[in-house]
Amino acid sequence: MASFGAYAKKNGIKYFLISFVDLFGTMRAKLVPATAIDQVAKAGAGFAGFAVWFDMTPAHADILVMADLDTANQLPWKPEVAWVTGDLMMDGKPVTQNPRQVLKRVIDDATKDGFEMKTGVECEYFLILPDGSAISDGFDTQGKPCYDQQALMRRYATITEICDCMITLGWGPYQNDHEDANGQFEMNWEYDSALKTADRHAFFKFMVKSIAEKHGLRATFMPKPFTNLTGNGCHAHVSLWSKGQNLFDDPKGELGLSTLGYDFIGGIMHSAAGLTAITNPTVNSYKRINAPPTLSGATWSPNTITYAGNNRTHMIRIPDGGRFELRLADGSANPYLLQASLLVAGLDGIRNKRDPGKRLDIDMYTQGHLAKGAKRLPLNLLDALRAFEKSDVIREGLGEDLAKSYLKLKHDDWNAYSRHLTDWERQTTLDC
Ligand SMILES: [Mg+2]
Repeated sequence: MASFGAYAKKNGIKYFLISFVDLFGTMRAKLVPATAIDQVAKAGAGFAGFAVWFDMTPAHADILVMADLDTANQLPWKPEVAWVTGDLMMDGKPVTQNPRQVLKRVIDDATKDGFEMKTGVECEYFLILPDGSAISDGFDTQGKPCYDQQALMRRYATITEICDCMITLGWGPYQNDHEDANGQFEMNWEYDSALKTADRHAFFKFMVKSIAEKHGLRATFMPKPFTNLTGNGCHAHVSLWSKGQNLFDDPKGELGLSTLGYDFIGGIMHSAAGLTAITNPTVNSYKRINAPPTLSGATWSPNTITYAGNNRTHMIRIPDGGRFELRLADGSANPYLLQASLLVAGLDGIRNKRDPGKRLDIDMYTQGHLAKGAKRLPLNLLDALRAFEKSDVIREGLGEDLAKSYLKLKHDDWNAYSRHLTDWERQTTLDC
């Protein structure tokens, strides 16, 4: 491809955001003027790893982001800026903690077996007040607000600006709706290869927040920002392909899913507890998956390691043939580690022919007690981190370097939370 300079000239770019996502999924960048871009792209854009969520010290050498022009997106809402990402290097070696590089390595591993994972993600978010205290639409008070046309149209300017951006970017968006919580929305675009979807997922969060801010609002992907409302899920739809063929598609298979598909699901079920440390990576995540029913009547999130047909009360749903939906992940999941851990667990299921057991066609919210032996998902981040530590599949699949660093930083996170004195403790323990 042409040089960055030529790309800038052709597209009228004045600045480049040279960007990457750290272990906690936070997007970091340097804003580089087009006048210096060729030089910075060649040498790499430098960052101090200790200053972001990587397990590094101030004594570490610079991380260099080697911008890859193939990843460039001209910001549709600010066309003089282009966003670009790429591999991270330190002292001439790849940074093994970088989530995007981990995903690329896992994808390479799958390619050796002849598999390509394709996924779509459903990133739910709330439009809230800039100070974060409440939803932004005071009229949005319905008990069952899902698909509320009036509330959707009150946010027409924001939603359509985001959707128009996706059309410009060529993502193939096809529907937008008001979700199950007051103030909550979801926008869907076409599924694609895991890396492309991860890049888009990361960019989507940046784009939604940016456009919400432009409209005087704030967007949050926080898993459970309001205790009485449904949380922000990030459901993933998964299929495995080879030479243009969907290998999960089998009209003769149960619910239209092939044996390979069930092996993959078996792998997810086998590693689910450890996987949760990645798909639900924050303290707050467990207030979504272990929540009591919300104002609308359901949490729409799973709390057991079970699967079903077209039934949204389980961790995995098989809505129709050729794919399944993992309903576990939430809005705080790292877009790259989400895809990488899914693929790692699924490949293990295929290689070891993991049996997912019988599907459960019951309403887990009301009949969960009938599911004898159904394993519960971790109840909190600490349980999930311990399960991750014990999961050879997930740990080794993501790489011991990544696992060690991730565990260290996430345990720090948990410890910080544990030391925090809550109002609840005062209310219940002051008079002990
Ligand atoms: Mg949804």
